[in-house]
Amino acid sequence: MKTLMVSVSGVRGVVGEGLTPQVAMNFAQAFGSYVGGGTVVLGRDSRITGPMLRHAVLAGLTAVGCDVLDLGIVPTPTTQLATERLHARGGIIITASHNPIMWNGLKMLAADGLFLDAEQGGRVLDLSKQQEGAYAKFDQLGDVQPYRDAVDDHIRAILELPYIDVERIRRRRFKVALDCVCGAGGVLLPALLERLGCGVIGIHCEPSGRFPRNPEPLPENLGELCATVQETAADVGFAVDPDSDRLAIVSEKGQPLGEEYTLALAVQFLLQKKAGPVVVNVSTTRAIDDIGAQFGVEVVRTKVGEIHVAKRMREVGAVIGGEGNGGVILPDVHLGRDAPVGIALTLEHLAESERTIGELFESLPQYVMSKRRIELSGIDPQRAVEVLRQRYASQRLDLTDGVKVLWERSWVHVRPSNTEPILRVLAEAPTREQAETLAADVVKQVQAT
Ligand code: MG
Repeated sequence: MKTLMVSVSGVRGVVGEGLTPQVAMNFAQAFGSYVGGGTVVLGRDSRITGPMLRHAVLAGLTAVGCDVLDLGIVPTPTTQLATERLHARGGIIITASHNPIMWNGLKMLAADGLFLDAEQGGRVLDLSKQQEGAYAKFDQLGDVQPYRDAVDDHIRAILELPYIDVERIRRRRFKVALDCVCGAGGVLLPALLERLGCGVIGIHCEPSGRFPRNPEPLPENLGELCATVQETAADVGFAVDPDSDRLAIVSEKGQPLGEEYTLALAVQFLLQKKAGPVVVNVSTTRAIDDIGAQFGVEVVRTKVGEIHVAKRMREVGAVIGGEGNGGVILPDVHLGRDAPVGIALTLEHLAESERTIGELFESLPQYVMSKRRIELSGIDPQRAVEVLRQRYASQRLDLTDGVKVLWERSWVHVRPSNTEPILRVLAEAPTREQAETLAADVVKQVQAT
């Protein structure tokens, strides 16, 4: 199996197989050449392979004359915010997001804190293929300085939002169960919750990088958090992935809401405060369309991938957006998926509505999603997409990204993953049975191609 995934937004692989120090140094060097020197912000999640890759990245950046502001272990959104607000030339995050423990990677940020787009990333890729780097002279190498305020800066940016009433939340004294999966969220989320007057019952909040569970915050991986919510009678449970850009919510009854509903709740709250377009990717729950219709605002759909959503948000002046996998993007803080932002919006929503999280969830349009994956061994992803496009030619199709077939109250979407050698199949319908049937049917058709 291929263990190095190279894309315009960065590189991701299994450490020691595809992802070596040479690969990391080469990309860092190419990125440093691309930004043309100056200051680059560096952050990493807590993965145990992070320190080794950090050395490689520092070597690559400083060799081409970049000065580095090193944030240490911080969430991905914290690095994005710091890159923008410290006026750096760009940023690098050492993370493999939700991938398993043996994976790691580099994500590259432009000066505005957004991930590189196809054109920018393509130029870095071209530079990475050159044999000779644009090395600085021996006395012009870059310098490395720690920057320790990034977490505080991030928390402050959230608490200063005009629609976050810190005192109102504090008065509620919420009891919050929190699962950081021993990732980077542990350096920020307990502090954020304490600032909001919450009693925090933390599990796996030490950023050791030794993930105690599958690190993707899917319902099936949140058993311990659900049990903790029930045992401690918490008001709500929050779980994040290792770099803390994705957020999942557990109700006061210990039920995972499903990550699609993280964004749905945030959109429902924010549209009460501000009117304007909402931007989500093509495979995000259609509950967002229903909520947008309730508030009379436009919902715009993009290709899957944070950069596509973020750029369209900027173009249309969106008030909120994100991805259904628990990625809330609030442009009033920055244009990146941000679990800390999602937590603050959810707590304010709870405080203002004076309802339980379960009641808020039940007030939302109800759909069920089935998410499947097909390993690509022997399957040509483009051919599979084409076969489905023809098979469903008489239906309403959305070809923004792969193929999405839409019916009145349900849809199915198939596309090649950007980060793993798989095809993703998502189906959504009003009932679990309908969603599972739709997904299973398409999986069968793909495997027959
Ligand atoms: Mg992530």
